[in-house]
Amino acid sequence: MSHHAPEKSATVDAAYRTLIGHTVACATCRAGDACPTEARLDRKWKAARR
Ligand SMILES: [Zn+2]
Repeated sequence: MSHHAPEKSATVDAAYRTLIGHTVACATCRAGDACPTEARLDRKWKAARR
């Protein structure tokens, strides 16, 4: 039984893809270093999942 609204799922999916798209393209993330952009996108994704 799911209470997920399609609109929210789309938001979560978009946020996740933005995060993954960043981590594969960003030199800082690829080097495994702390990246403020990655941290911001990760927070946004986790906030969207709530
Ligand atoms: Zn990054």
